[in-house]
Amino acid sequence: MSGPIEDEIRLQGVPICPGVCVAKACLFNDARHNQLTPVVVTEQEVEGEIERLQRAIAAAGVCLDEIRDRVAREMGPAEAEIFVAQKMMVNDPGLGARMIAAIRGEKAGAEMAVMTVMDGYETRFRVLDNEYLRERASDIGEVKRRLLDALAATRPGLRCEGAAHCERGRERVVVAAELTASLTVDLDTDRLRGFVTEHGGATSHAAILARALGIPAVSGLPGIHSRIACGTELLVNGDAGEVFLWPRPETVARFQRQLAASAAPVEAVEPVPGFRVMANISIVAEAALARRMQAEGIGLYRTEFEFMALGRVLTEDEQYQRYAALLKTMDGRPVYVRLLDLGGDKPAPYLDLPAEANPALGLRGARLLARRPDLLRTQARAIARAAVVGPVHVTYPMIVDVAQFRALRALFAEAVADLPAADIRHGVMLEVPAACLNADALLREADYGSIGTNDLYQYVFAIDRNNELVAGDFRLDHPVFWDLLAAVVAAAGRQGKPLSVCGEMAGWPEYALRMRALGISTVSVSTRLVSVVRRTLAVAKPPENG
Ligand code: PEP
Ligand code: MG
Repeated sequence: MSGPIEDEIRLQGVPICPGVCVAKACLFNDARHNQLTPVVVTEQEVEGEIERLQRAIAAAGVCLDEIRDRVAREMGPAEAEIFVAQKMMVNDPGLGARMIAAIRGEKAGAEMAVMTVMDGYETRFRVLDNEYLRERASDIGEVKRRLLDALAATRPGLRCEGAAHCERGRERVVVAAELTASLTVDLDTDRLRGFVTEHGGATSHAAILARALGIPAVSGLPGIHSRIACGTELLVNGDAGEVFLWPRPETVARFQRQLAASAAPVEAVEPVPGFRVMANISIVAEAALARRMQAEGIGLYRTEFEFMALGRVLTEDEQYQRYAALLKTMDGRPVYVRLLDLGGDKPAPYLDLPAEANPALGLRGARLLARRPDLLRTQARAIARAAVVGPVHVTYPMIVDVAQFRALRALFAEAVADLPAADIRHGVMLEVPAACLNADALLREADYGSIGTNDLYQYVFAIDRNNELVAGDFRLDHPVFWDLLAAVVAAAGRQGKPLSVCGEMAGWPEYALRMRALGISTVSVSTRLVSVVRRTLAVAKPPENG
């Protein structure tokens, strides 16, 4: 049910992905599951509550079947297995009986019964000695969430206008606390209209995902959940970071041109001579779009997103299949596979790492790989096996100095020593200030460098890339920052090594232009921005020295 018709309200947030859309909201709110207040039902309500629970169990089962089929189709049968296991859990008669007993015996509402029983199981699984079973604890949490979602859809008044989850966000603006990789698995990403999130800055990983999907997105609107109902009409202006609740017809009319432009499919634009535009991807499936956009390679494959999307560590074979498929799709064009950059704001709960007070400065990227060589070893083998399909560039994330790069590269070499020699280049992300200040030494050692402006800016200016409260202070035109970029370009020139920029700012045409003027001739940007960047660069006057 949509809320009563109200007058237009304009909210100002942070622009995340350009474009404009008008559509109904679909609320995705995991948080509500943690904020359930205990409901005690009366004797007369008990049977109704049990019926609600049973309907929710059936609906969650149907939903899991759908996800299993889709994941099997889009990602492969191994990835779909997890949803088969979750379905078995949902249908486990023992589990159902315990929930019913909680409703009958303790007069708990169906939601509370689900919470109490599932939390009990989860806690018991988390302390088991067997690692495999311990990992199943996160499945229990996931099943709990699904049951609670299904229950929300059976409660009168809270129903979405579509089916549960508004049919996975189809033709809707998804409103969520934060956009996560696992949320994108839940949604029908091909038919989403927009994203509005409470948290996340313009270079946050959520923003990167939104840009990969190419739909208008605005972040930094805390509390938006409590202001609207599922089905509330929204106008999202991702160009200016504004969201209109209950937009008036004259407001919609004012955006007519942008609405039409955003709805049109992205067209490929011919490569610009002398300036290579490659694509950043988070999952292998995006490579097909990169080809359609005529991207001159994959400049950054953020392999950790595959782990984040499935919520677990991928096996060597699973990784190999992805890398081989990517190289095949790119058919000889350059492919830069970045080693796992987990940790920090890319959490990996399944790795069972200690809690950190300051994760951005903790076990992340290169440091995490050094701590968990098993992860690096598995990935190295998968990459080396795939490299028979085509040449690969392997990029090391969050490198701070030569010693660290050497150590990880040696681990890589050791892991693949028994495999046939393959054409693999080894390069570094230049995204930590220490690495950029010492770019000469690093580039002497490495085969190439790639500047990660998202983290570089964050660490140079001590500003959280994920925090919408400081998004306004993210002044990417700051001269100190450009001086540092210029110094890195000069170092690459001195060392005669290729250099690219793969941070988000390369996808903003005005910055891409400035980069070209600085002597950078390769950038890698969100797939859907390849054309946007080329369009601007094609008509701008090339630099004198170009
Ligand atoms: C960067 O930091 O600029 C980068 C490209 O890496 P990520 O955004 O994945 O941290
Ligand atoms: Mg980075």
